Amino acid sequence: MNKDNTAAVSPHALPPLPYPDNALAPVISANTLGFHYGKHHRGYVDNLNKLVAGTAFADLPLLKIMSETAGKADKATIFNNAAQIWNHTFYWNSLRAAGGGQPPARLKEKIEASFGTLDACREELAAAAMAQFGSGWAWLVLDGGTLKVVKTANAELPMTAGRKPLVTIDVWEHAYYLDYQNRRLDYVHAVLDKLINWDFAAENLG
Ligand code: MN
Repeated sequence: MNKDNTAAVSPHALPPLPYPDNALAPVISANTLGFHYGKHHRGYVDNLNKLVAGTAFADLPLLKIMSETAGKADKATIFNNAAQIWNHTFYWNSLRAAGGGQPPARLKEKIEASFGTLDACREELAAAAMAQFGSGWAWLVLDGGTLKVVKTANAELPMTAGRKPLVTIDVWEHAYYLDYQNRRLDYVHAVLDKLINWDFAAENLG
């Protein structure tokens, strides 16, 4: 089945990127964004649509598929593809051109209450991104009224543990290898300095 046919019969669509694929350059090149969005993110959508076709999951919304398959070994492939669709959409929104800098006041106060300083929060995010062995994600989350930094492996995400994600950094190699090769820390620092979307994180505080 070709991609066009798959898209035509599929319930899940690839969400549009919130900016052009060259918007994050030079921190993240159009080449990286093109592959990451056009091949990886699209691939998860195509895979999920094939996996759920004709099953009890076929008519369920994405979040429902994720909650019903989380932690079930025999549904891991469905969970992984569904969660990766959600994670990537969240990641695109966690970045913006001319990001970084200072968070909105309400978020900044929350960050300072939880970490002491914005720099301490950024350092924890970078440390989590580096400590994630292999593929995964670093997240700033709201957990019982407090902000925390957590990391997750592969497609795992904080909601499964009852935590509300505010912002994320993709640390799968496909997120940075074309631009930074093995230098994950350079990618993470560049994202935190120049792309991280604190406005989006503040909106997610609710
Ligand atoms: Mn990715």
